[in-house]
Amino acid sequence: MVGGGVAGSRGRPGGSPGPLPERLLAALAAAGAPPVTDPAVLLGLGTDWTGRWSGPVLAAVAPSTTEQVVAVLAAARATGVPVQVQGGNTGLVGGSVPDRPALLLRTTRLQRLDAVDPLERTVLVGAGVTAARLAAHAAAAGLRFGVDLAARDSATIGGMAATNAGGIAVLAHGPMRQQVRGLTAVLADGRVVRSAGRPRKDNAGYALAELLVGSEGTLGVITEVELALHPAPPASTVALLGVPDLAGAVAAGRAVEAAGGQLLAAEVVDAAGARRAAAALRLPDPLPPRAAWLLLLEVADGGTGEALGPVADQVVAVGSSPPDRARLWALRERQTELYAQLPDLVDKLDVSVRLDHLDAAVGAVRDAARGPGPAGAGPERPAGGAPWVGIFGHALDGNLHVQLVGADPLAAQRVLEVVAALGGSISAEHGIGRLKAAQLGMVRSADELAWMRALKAGVDPTGLLNPGVLLGG
Ligand SMILES: Cc1cc2nc3c(=O)[nH]c(=O)nc-3n(C[C@H](O)[C@H](O)[C@H](O)COP(=O)(O)OP(=O)(O)OC[C@H]3O[C@@H](n4cnc5c(N)ncnc54)[C@H](O)[C@@H]3O)c2cc1C
Repeated sequence: MVGGGVAGSRGRPGGSPGPLPERLLAALAAAGAPPVTDPAVLLGLGTDWTGRWSGPVLAAVAPSTTEQVVAVLAAARATGVPVQVQGGNTGLVGGSVPDRPALLLRTTRLQRLDAVDPLERTVLVGAGVTAARLAAHAAAAGLRFGVDLAARDSATIGGMAATNAGGIAVLAHGPMRQQVRGLTAVLADGRVVRSAGRPRKDNAGYALAELLVGSEGTLGVITEVELALHPAPPASTVALLGVPDLAGAVAAGRAVEAAGGQLLAAEVVDAAGARRAAAALRLPDPLPPRAAWLLLLEVADGGTGEALGPVADQVVAVGSSPPDRARLWALRERQTELYAQLPDLVDKLDVSVRLDHLDAAVGAVRDAARGPGPAGAGPERPAGGAPWVGIFGHALDGNLHVQLVGADPLAAQRVLEVVAALGGSISAEHGIGRLKAAQLGMVRSADELAWMRALKAGVDPTGLLNPGVLLGG
């Protein structure tokens, strides 16, 4: 079964989930959302992007309107069948597939895409629109969608809102929560909340849209999202720098800002990860011999490179044209995929600390991953199958993606404990999902957890939506 989280197993096979209640089948057909029941298709849909989480899917439905989502949830409520919400299925914490026989509600047919409102600089989109489609739509109107991530071709706006996704542009525009101006959602109890189309200044009670952002499908199904868009920044320069540590990476970013450069991104990759990506991309070794980290800075400077003056001695490569920028970015963007290909990848963690704790966190994480012993697990792959910790992330967000390779099953628990002890977070941007539900208490007080459970019980007393995600159970 799923539910061991970071210290346990990763799901059960999706086969033989049992029959779909006839009443549910009839109600779904009547709702205009006929279910898919082909076992081979359901097996694929019940397995997440990492391939490490899978669960039994009774049937899958893909409603195309808010009204159909209302009808699907009503049918599930009436028959007591749990509902698992799924967008692009690119989530990395096991939250997009069920851990018990469930109806899979896919949002991929919620494809509304309104014209951009140039005055408000907003756009209303269906939850199933992908980040890439929205970015192209915004760009055609001369504006920019503020969240970008390597999963852009599959990740949906609804899934990104539900997980409060971050990504590679948080430095410039903030995470999803800062983009969402309003939304439409069907709560687990069937009520529909609509907050799109309201004025930008609107202080009238609880911010319900914000509450649904980051709720990971536990409170309601988001069907439409109104998003803020941003003026397109001037042409940018991408620079690769070799830095000795993460304090050096932060200092380099701040120096560029102090020189008037508008930083769009400041990403880091440890030396081993950078060299592995360079080899995969058939690029030369990107790092000088003594640099322990590759730092990628993207600066909106009209493509002149002038703002890089203060860090010129650390720069190893610069790209101003779109293909050159993409070539340099690939060293960072390929990391998730390259680690996912390793057969002995044990866990992928997404943690954050305050900026002055970054190097301490790296040391503590490597030690914790290795466990009791004389030396911490280093960034280079050791001989003999010893644990190996790969780290990349968003430097100026204090966000490290920690890849535990060949580690023992309890390594992730130890890593999360040391991050929490440093005052950090066990989820910077991927969410809690099923992976870290049992560890939520490390970073949220008993009172906060009780309040979260009370909110959930208020709209979903029977635990219909995404059971086991975020709050466990
Ligand atoms: C290569 C790669 C790179 C990535 N990089 C980043 C990154 O830089 N930053 C980052 O934050 N994440 C990143 N991710 C993780 C992932 O892309 C994000 O979490 C994304 O937001 C998930 O969107 P999705 O549509 O795939 O949602 P899914 O994976 O389908 O679902 C994720 C969660 O949201 C819920 N959900 C989905 N749609 C809805 C809805 N309409 N209403 C309510 N609940 C819903 C699901 O039930 C589940 O709990 C990356 C993933 C990959 C594979």
